[in-house]
Amino acid sequence: MKTGGLTGISWEAFHALPLEEKRPYLERRGGRGEPFHTLFAQQFDRPLLERLAALSNRIRFLSKSKDGALWLKSLLCHKRAMLYFSQPSSRTFLSHLAACQILGLTTGSVRDTSISSEFKGESKEDSIRTFSSYFDMIIMRTPEQGLAEKMSWELSNSERPVPILNAGSGKDQHPTQALLDIYTLLRSFETKGGLHDRTVVFCGDLLRGRTVHSLSYLLTNFPRIKQVFVAPPQLQADESTFAALRAKGVEFEVSDDLRSVVPLADAVYMTRIQDEWDAAKGDSAKIDTSRFKFGAEELALLPENGIIMHPLPRRDEIAVCCDHDPRAMYWRQMRNGMWIRAALIATTFGFEDEILARPL
Ligand code: ASP
Repeated sequence: MKTGGLTGISWEAFHALPLEEKRPYLERRGGRGEPFHTLFAQQFDRPLLERLAALSNRIRFLSKSKDGALWLKSLLCHKRAMLYFSQPSSRTFLSHLAACQILGLTTGSVRDTSISSEFKGESKEDSIRTFSSYFDMIIMRTPEQGLAEKMSWELSNSERPVPILNAGSGKDQHPTQALLDIYTLLRSFETKGGLHDRTVVFCGDLLRGRTVHSLSYLLTNFPRIKQVFVAPPQLQADESTFAALRAKGVEFEVSDDLRSVVPLADAVYMTRIQDEWDAAKGDSAKIDTSRFKFGAEELALLPENGIIMHPLPRRDEIAVCCDHDPRAMYWRQMRNGMWIRAALIATTFGFEDEILARPL
């Protein structure tokens, strides 16, 4: 496997680059723009997203038969992946684990740093160097913004340059969640005219919701997708999100009235209040979020072809009574995560052409 090109640049110079300009440094050498390290949504353009969606479909279909599943499992049985999750996770952890299993990678994990050497005072840098000694890929989630980026640079400049997948970095980005969100949108609109000329409504905690930041960016790759941001003023998306949309000439609107925008939505992307980031415990509870929930009344306003999405976990921002409506996409969205993460891992190791060439 060829590594990414992070070796020709100092950390300071790389870190200072605008996100869009970081992409070439993170690509798999000799590929067609596929990532080696996956750190930001800005690494993915429409052709790459569509290739990943096609590869996810192929993996999904191959997995249905014993022959196909066994063949997939043979592909990466010589590789090992480390899941380093120092922040809570259910779906992201399990779907990456399941994705590794689909492709035959063996896995190890650290989920509780109090039982690793970090507790003895080892730096995160040293911990990650240690993982890279035993594993061929590191899938990591940390509360620290930017740690995955720093570690990618460190590893690319070490004797064991293994790829890093960012599975959530602080309040900042969650690129693999955005990939599964795009895959869900592509699948949902596949037979309904495609992913263009749509309105996507984001609702909830748009300031601290990293999935929103990554998905908002990925949507800019598709033509004429209007984005509507519905949140209480204290939790509204910040200027960096809007500046990125302006720079790309994307139409967007800011609102605090969910009911008025649901009738115009092709997709409503609900999010929970991210109160783990409160400066003082209980700060979020002081904000009136009662109008930023999706229930029976909103469901009645949603167009027939509209869909409801959520990165999960949910609290009460989507009423349970919506769960069995065919437009509720959040369960399928969650399962899509396993397929597109398998596609991303296969791509990182350069196996996409082989998988696509395999007859069903
Ligand atoms: N699971 C998502 C994340 O890790 C969304 C959430 O936690 O609300 O960001």
